[in-house]
Amino acid sequence: MDWHRIRSDFPILDQQVHGHPLVYLDSAASSQKPRAVINTLSRYYERDNANVHRALHDLSARATDAFEAARKKVARFIGAASDDEIIFTRGSTEGINLVANTWGTQNLRAGDVILVTGMEHHSNLVPWQLLAQRTGAILKHIPVLDDGTLDSAAIDTLLTEQVKLFAFVHVSNSLGTINPARELCAKAKAVGAVTLLDGAQSAGHMPINVRDLGCDFFVFSGHKMCAPTGIGVLYGRMELLETMPPWHGGGEMILNVTLEASTYKPPPHRFEAGTPDIAGVIGLGAAIDYLEAIGLENIQRHDHNLSNYAVQQMREVPGIRILGPDFGHRGALVAFHLDCAHPHDLVEFANSHGIAMRGGHHCTQPLMKRFKVPGTTRASFYFYNTIEEINRLVEVLLAARKFFT
Ligand SMILES: *Cc1c(COP(=O)(O)O)cnc(C)c1O
Repeated sequence: MDWHRIRSDFPILDQQVHGHPLVYLDSAASSQKPRAVINTLSRYYERDNANVHRALHDLSARATDAFEAARKKVARFIGAASDDEIIFTRGSTEGINLVANTWGTQNLRAGDVILVTGMEHHSNLVPWQLLAQRTGAILKHIPVLDDGTLDSAAIDTLLTEQVKLFAFVHVSNSLGTINPARELCAKAKAVGAVTLLDGAQSAGHMPINVRDLGCDFFVFSGHKMCAPTGIGVLYGRMELLETMPPWHGGGEMILNVTLEASTYKPPPHRFEAGTPDIAGVIGLGAAIDYLEAIGLENIQRHDHNLSNYAVQQMREVPGIRILGPDFGHRGALVAFHLDCAHPHDLVEFANSHGIAMRGGHHCTQPLMKRFKVPGTTRASFYFYNTIEEINRLVEVLLAARKFFT
């Protein structure tokens, strides 16, 4: 693989920041976009832009075709059984809220258990807290061990028949832990629990097959996998989607409306009220084409090499504490704490050397408390990053040690 050539598909990466070549290590927050996606968006706005599904004119027909073709691509990309199992959302957060407000409200009663883990993003925690408050359900979590993996003994005691829903993150955005999703979904299924997998950090980084994983719901965000912001996906097994009431009411989701009541379309349109992010959906389709041309296995291997190389090199920095699995099986990020500097100061220092990282709680406050750190600094990678950039990061971390002590 010619990763340097692939990197040149990303125009934004070719710039200087504070007199240094930009080193973008914040892809876990949002990825950069290749020219193929940017061009697809301009072409759509220059040639085909119109609202979908509602008109008989040519532009609308073209926009609708491109929109529905993207739904097909997404279904294939994650191994769904049908295009109708793909619901377009604004992102992972909206997908989770949709499930909480439809399936959750319909199925949870006082005393039922919602099980999460101690490493959830706030997006996969707060919607369940709200649901628990509304329904009287009880929220429990699987603890995280010191090495950043889930406490597997606790899983077996917590995953009982009281658990109606088990929602957990596939790849942790704060630790890099890759959870054994297939095994966990099988355990949940054995006690009759419905599963929701938060794929915000796994989609676009590894091959995904929802049927092989065995999850009931899967969410991800386009902007973390080369697509525009504002577009995401909720996958749901048709058997469940069919039973779920709508969440948002409005245009596009109805069959028939009187002043008193309405009937609704079947999934997925039942859950897509109003004008969707048409350009976003088409851009997501272009991102999938782009990623598949590189190959998800290749991306996964490159992620793995980068993160393992980074852990190996960063370990040598004096006073560093790296969170999450030490080696081997980890996602494309390294979160760490340097004893001499607050994460915010360190991130500013790195920025003045052209390195873009993120410092803080990364939307996982309970996890920061668990590891007794005020926050961490996170270097996150994607396939456009290089070994040279990791060397540069280590150089700047060593300079930071001198600067702050
Ligand atoms: C980014 C992220 C989310 C939220 O995604 P949005 O695009 O902000 O909706 C949820 N879970 C994880 C693990 C994330 O990394």
